[in-house]
Amino acid sequence: MNKKAANDLQDLQYFGEYGGVNPSVSDSSTYTFLSAKTMFDTFEGNTEGCYLYSRHSSPSNLYLGEALAALEGTETANVTASGMGAITAVIMELCNAGDHIVSSRTIYGGTYAFMKNFLKKFNVSTSFLDITDLKAVAESITPKTKMIYCESVSNPLLEVADIIALSKIATTNNIPLVVDNTFSPLTISPAKLGADIVIHSLTKFINGTSDCVAGVVCGTKEFCLSLKDVNSGAGMLLGSTLDSLRGASILKNMRTLHIRMKKHSENAQFLSQKFEQDGLRVVYPGLESHQGHLTMKGQMNLQYGYGGLMTIDVGTLEKANALMEMMQEKKLGYLAVSLGFYKTLFSAPGTSTSSEIPMEEQAAMGLGDGLIRFSVGLDDDIQRTYNLMKACMVHLGILKSERVEA
Ligand code: PLP
Repeated sequence: MNKKAANDLQDLQYFGEYGGVNPSVSDSSTYTFLSAKTMFDTFEGNTEGCYLYSRHSSPSNLYLGEALAALEGTETANVTASGMGAITAVIMELCNAGDHIVSSRTIYGGTYAFMKNFLKKFNVSTSFLDITDLKAVAESITPKTKMIYCESVSNPLLEVADIIALSKIATTNNIPLVVDNTFSPLTISPAKLGADIVIHSLTKFINGTSDCVAGVVCGTKEFCLSLKDVNSGAGMLLGSTLDSLRGASILKNMRTLHIRMKKHSENAQFLSQKFEQDGLRVVYPGLESHQGHLTMKGQMNLQYGYGGLMTIDVGTLEKANALMEMMQEKKLGYLAVSLGFYKTLFSAPGTSTSSEIPMEEQAAMGLGDGLIRFSVGLDDDIQRTYNLMKACMVHLGILKSERVEA
């Protein structure tokens, strides 16, 4: 993140209707007009600053959108009712029947299922490939290709996309690069690296309290307005609208994102190093052993660290399940999908968030059924967490050593 974007975000200061330090929440689905002519003009998209109907936009959602645009350094942003609401709207906006998408094969299972199964209805096909194989990416683009799609750090395998290189390929072919940055807010700023559209599931780190589902599309004014077009916009017409009350609460939570991301990263870096030293198969972009470590280092905002997600492959699903149940019992976190919560969350993606991906494809991409994805929480005493996790692993025979550090 360049200094300007960080400062833009920090400087955002809104006042409530009566001078409150938080903006007033817009608690209305519809808005009055003083003249019928202004209403007509607003429907035509001609009256800047007028509110029409809350599926189109609402003051609270616009405040949140502004903050997210500042976070990503894009011209503007549209918030949505979920991450999938953002992803599906972008894809439906960019693709017509018969078109083609080039996508990373390691992406969130819901996105994969949407591209692979749902888009069949519209005869839109997707080439799923190893996004780190730049030659394969370039070669799979056809005249029908409407976008390159990837996650900056992928779910669940934590593959790192080389956004600068991918954006060059996209530009050469005159197609947009769409990046889901859910796993690495602040750490990676895809738009600064050349991405055209940046998506988040706000459900995760940005909100940080696992109490709601929401999403955002960050991009140019032209693209975000087209999504909101009353006649043809996929955002407006598919209707994935965030409730204003939620928009307001996410904005408040977002104010502490920079502090939380640093702590998530610090804790995940600590655990991943320790468990790697213990001989476990750990994947974390902050480890030198990670395939994408140097790519990540070269394109990240170092002060936020390598993010809060790590995986450990304990060999079998039985062991993974036993470990997760025991860790939950010991109050080390929750056996739950999702990420970015202040407590650690763990799940086995092969049987949960990536279960939409057929087993043989999971195997081909290296997603073993003993793989546990950890969204490492904000634990104050991470050494203690490590000791307790290690004790669970020793108890279950995943680790041999009885020695637990003080
Ligand atoms: N993108 C990524 C990387 C995700 O992990 C998820 C959900 O897990 C989504 C998008 C979908 O977001 P939501 O659940 O908010 O619709």
